[in-house]
Amino acid sequence: MEHPVQKPPPNPLLDFSGLPRFAEILPEHVSPAIDALLARARAATAAAEKAAPTWEDFVLPQEDAHEELGRAWGQVSHLHGVMDTPPLREAYNENLPKISQYWTELGQNLRLFAKYRELKASPAFAQLGGARRRAVENALRDFQLSGAELDAAKKPRFAAIQEELAKLGAKFSENLLDATKAWSIVVEDESRLAGIPADVLLAAKEAAEKDETRPDSKRGWKFTLHMPSYFPVLQYAEDRDLRATLYRASATRASEFGRPEWDNTPIIGRILALRREAAQLLGYASHAEVSLVPKMAQSPAQVLEFLRDLARRARPFAEKDAAELRAFARAELGIDELQSWDVAYASEKLRASRYSFSDQDLKQYFPEDTALTGLFRVVESIFELSITESKAATWHENVRFWEARDRNGRLVGQFYTDLYARDTKRGGAWMDDAIGRRRKGAGIQTPVAYLNCNFSPPVGGKPALFSHDEVITLFHEAGHGLHHLLTRVEDLAVSGMNGVEWDAVELPSQFMENFCWEWDVLGGAKPGGMTAHVDTGAPLPRELFDKMIAAKNFQSGLATLRQVEFALFDMRVYADFDPATAGPAGAGVQALLDEVRREVAVMVPPAWNRFQNGFGHIFGGGYAAGYYSYKWAEVLSADAYSAFEEMRGSKGILDAGTGQRFRDEILAVGGSRPAAESFRAFRGREPRVDALLRHNGMIPA
Ligand code: ZN
Repeated sequence: MEHPVQKPPPNPLLDFSGLPRFAEILPEHVSPAIDALLARARAATAAAEKAAPTWEDFVLPQEDAHEELGRAWGQVSHLHGVMDTPPLREAYNENLPKISQYWTELGQNLRLFAKYRELKASPAFAQLGGARRRAVENALRDFQLSGAELDAAKKPRFAAIQEELAKLGAKFSENLLDATKAWSIVVEDESRLAGIPADVLLAAKEAAEKDETRPDSKRGWKFTLHMPSYFPVLQYAEDRDLRATLYRASATRASEFGRPEWDNTPIIGRILALRREAAQLLGYASHAEVSLVPKMAQSPAQVLEFLRDLARRARPFAEKDAAELRAFARAELGIDELQSWDVAYASEKLRASRYSFSDQDLKQYFPEDTALTGLFRVVESIFELSITESKAATWHENVRFWEARDRNGRLVGQFYTDLYARDTKRGGAWMDDAIGRRRKGAGIQTPVAYLNCNFSPPVGGKPALFSHDEVITLFHEAGHGLHHLLTRVEDLAVSGMNGVEWDAVELPSQFMENFCWEWDVLGGAKPGGMTAHVDTGAPLPRELFDKMIAAKNFQSGLATLRQVEFALFDMRVYADFDPATAGPAGAGVQALLDEVRREVAVMVPPAWNRFQNGFGHIFGGGYAAGYYSYKWAEVLSADAYSAFEEMRGSKGILDAGTGQRFRDEILAVGGSRPAAESFRAFRGREPRVDALLRHNGMIPA
């Protein structure tokens, strides 16, 4: 007997039978699909409220409905990120509020919360596997942190705080953006431009010509506070006053020195007060404590100790960096007193005098296919996979599609690479999941990932050439991709990166970056090496590699202390700072920042610097009491990598045995157990900071 052939749904966003049907998705598909899936999710929620509190009857049907919603919306968001067109943007913005409203609703659904508690308390809970128990515990934790447990009298206040915080965060970012956009300077005297690179000058000239606020003049060069304009001036302009002018304008953005309506000072005070109040409603002393609940770090005190320890170790190197810079500026540049607006300029000059090679030289050795082959060779060697190019419907002709198979030829996962910058793609580089690994009936659904970058496309008939920084970015995103693709977990809520603590998520990505500094990987001595000169095919010469390595840790002491300064300020302002008793708005926050700088900084900015008014990570974004995560995860990734370094003398850096353990204990388990446990299982001990210090050249001689 033959089964009837199932016709695929006409709306491609409602087809979950395989890979996304990118060639067919149109903006007009979005609203009907999202409406249908939201209705399905709401029906699943309503059924779950009445279901028996078991995994099969209660959790699973919700997971099915949410997976479909997540996958369809994931495709829409992905297209919004990489192929933004006015009709698609409209469809995206029309549906975004519906989606966020649904998740908020779900987070405060008391009947679901009660049902999860019943499940946790039932004998069935102990019968669940570790991954499912963790998924249930995470769900309970998230309900608690969204205020589901508060008594009825406190709930409205908690909700009002969350709403106001969302608005304040958006306003903080808008003020910063508006203040950034409003400032510019037009230089008409050509002699002031000495030192600034030609491409920056060209852009500045075009900007002056297009400036509609100066209808009578098209002369001059216009500079702004946007990074591609601002930073080259600070780095290269010989005119010290010009540097000082731009620096001051940037360092006082959105502060009391500018337009009152863009001043972020009162907003910072309000955000701190509200986060503290919300934390106390939930029964915690501070927002820092709340922020750490779903993270790997245990307490604000532990984070502070971690940061201070790092500062102590970096300090001698930072002092040496600063002393060298000051001496160089005095002797070679005639700058007797190094100011904040001289630092980038003097550093660039010192770097150029010490290491005589340019990014341009290096780039010639990384044509796209060579770099990709190099990446795949690393992945294939350490994880015993084979990666081959394959075919799938995509959203752009430059997108490529790949599959990874294990030693037995079984499909492990698939991924898209979309590497070139385009004006329809948002900036930066990121990994996203298209399909997550999970059990579906008798079979396993294999995972699919997107790797998105903004590298330079091919020019002049040559293949695309990647800078070493771009290659590092490629490895970084591939690390996130591997976390998603190499999971063995069968429950979506904790498979791949799902459910992994925020301060551990960057472990696999930063781990992969290390391979970009290995002679065995770059040197090309073996077939499939990662470098081949675009014209001659020659591998990277050892001499150039040695220069690269020598330049790697230039001023790393200063860079480390800067990150510690930001992270320490973030943790302290959310841990023990009480805006109610800290005096007039702004002064208390400034005093705290000054204190942090006295403790850790070796180069202190001028008193009018208002860095905090532009610290969007912690006031406008998701990093409040979480900025330390960057360094925290780097300790883990460097220490994990050192297990591979230990194999150098015997089996080599690409050792498959160590790779297998890394895969088994870290990548495969995803969020199914605490990251600290996974790390201990891989390394056989607690994380140590030594490898990070060594990689940054900060081991005392
Ligand atoms: Zn990352």
